[in-house]
Amino acid sequence: MDLIQTRFREQLAMKNIELSEHQLSQFETYFHELVTWNEKMNLTGITDREEVYVKHFYDSLSVSFFVSMRDVMQMSDIGSGAGFPSIPLKIMFPHMKVTIVDSLNKRIQFLNHLTAALGLSDVSCVHGRAEDIARLPEHRDRYDLVTARAVAKLAGLNELCLPFVKVNGTFVAMKGSDFQQELDDSSYSLNELRGKYIYTRSLELPDAEHSSRNLLFIRKFAPTPKSYPRKAGTPLKTPLI
Ligand code: SAM
Repeated sequence: MDLIQTRFREQLAMKNIELSEHQLSQFETYFHELVTWNEKMNLTGITDREEVYVKHFYDSLSVSFFVSMRDVMQMSDIGSGAGFPSIPLKIMFPHMKVTIVDSLNKRIQFLNHLTAALGLSDVSCVHGRAEDIARLPEHRDRYDLVTARAVAKLAGLNELCLPFVKVNGTFVAMKGSDFQQELDDSSYSLNELRGKYIYTRSLELPDAEHSSRNLLFIRKFAPTPKSYPRKAGTPLKTPLI
C-alpha cells in the first residue's frame, strides 16, 4: 500500500468506513482503467492519481457519510459518466443493486468493461436519456436512492431524477459550493415532481484547497404524475421554473 492509498484509507476511517484489501485493489484497478480508457475517449479531466482518489473516489463516497447505505437495496445514478458516484459506492456497499443511466453510449461501454474488470455483480448500465428510461415501468417510482453529480441545475435535474425515486425514497443532488440560486429556483419543479427538499449536508474534500461540497437531499412524497418527465431534451432546455 502506498501513501495515496494509506491516506485514502485513513480519510475514510475517519468517517467510519473501513476499506478491505480487496476494495483497495478495486479502487486501484478503477484508477488504471479510467486513465487508460481516457486516452481513447473523454471520461474525465482529472487524471492525476491523488486527485482521482480525492475528487472522484472520496467525493463519490461522501453520499454514504449521510445515508444509511445498509438500508439502500436499489440505487440509480443518472448521468453517471465514468461511474461517479455509483461505482465507488457499489465497491464499498456491494449488497446494492445499481442501475446506471447515461445518454452517451461510449461511457456505457466503458462502464460495462469496468464493472467486469472490478468483478461487480448487480450493476446494470443503461444507455439512454433519463427522460425515456424513466417511462419504463421497471425503472419508474422504483429506487430507494437516486444520485446525480455534475449533470444539470437542480430545476432540470429534478425532472430527470425524481421519476426514478420510489415514494419515500431519496434523491441526492451532489453540488459544489455554488448551489443556493439553483435551490431557490427549484421549488416549482420540486412540487411538480412530488419532491420535498429536506436539507443540505456539507463537507470539505481532503484536498489542498479543502474544496466544499454540498449534498442536497430531496424526498419523494407521491408517485410521479403521468405527464413527467416531458419529451427528451425538454427538461434541461425548458426547466420547470
Ligand atoms: N456524474 C459524472 C461525474 O460526476 O463525473 C458525470 C458528469 S458528466 C458532466 C454528465 C453526464 O450526464 C454525461 O456523461 C452525459 O452523457 C450525461 N447526461 C446528460 N444528460 C443526460 C440525460 N438526459 N440522460 C442521461 N444522461 C445524461
